Amino acid sequence: MKIMLIGPQGSGKGTQAKLVAKKYNIPHIATGDLLREAVNKRTELGLKIKNILDNGELVPDELVISLIKEKLKSCGDFILDGFPRTIEQAKALDKITKLDKVIDIIVPDKESIKRISGRRSCPKCGAVFHVITNKPKKDEICDNCGTELIQRDDDKEEVIKKRLKIYHEQTSLLEDFYRNEGILEEITGEQSIEKVFEDIVKVLESD
Ligand code: AMP
Repeated sequence: MKIMLIGPQGSGKGTQAKLVAKKYNIPHIATGDLLREAVNKRTELGLKIKNILDNGELVPDELVISLIKEKLKSCGDFILDGFPRTIEQAKALDKITKLDKVIDIIVPDKESIKRISGRRSCPKCGAVFHVITNKPKKDEICDNCGTELIQRDDDKEEVIKKRLKIYHEQTSLLEDFYRNEGILEEITGEQSIEKVFEDIVKVLESD
């Protein structure tokens, strides 16, 4: 199964993608994670894109496309999270492989901002917490690896608003792109993590 999750920042895509990857034993490919890893490791790519990520802007299509091309070489099935984000990227992906299903997690901006501004991330293992809805056991410390949690620069409120604007201007165009291909499924993200996951599984296991 080749799956893509689409949805605004804070829709729970990352959380759901991890659950789907585990249930179906397929790789979870998140371009945001791959790009942040490049920044943290200060690779050539990382140095080029650090400011773009910090400012909440999109990394140029050609860089992300070549990253994903490389990654998909070794994958049969997969779940994509955060790619494609532009029509250009979607067309490039179409040439590499065909998706079976695209799941669109719908969440209004107000809810996205509430969720993301409280998000705290582990810079070491990537675990994600929330200051109100998913507190770590020990304040500001990662439950998994004991590292001090951080607020990503691009999770600060002004940057989130910019990221949402880019989402509505560019990424949401992909809804029509995949609707036209007949593979788009819409799910409401304003439910518990378990219920959203249940809805996703239902969609994946239909027909
Ligand atoms: P995410 O963790 O998916 O919210 O991604 C974090 C940041 O990585 C985004 O704000 C962009 O700067 C960059 N990024 C991730 N995926 C893409 C993509 N497909 N195209 C361009 N930039 C991306």
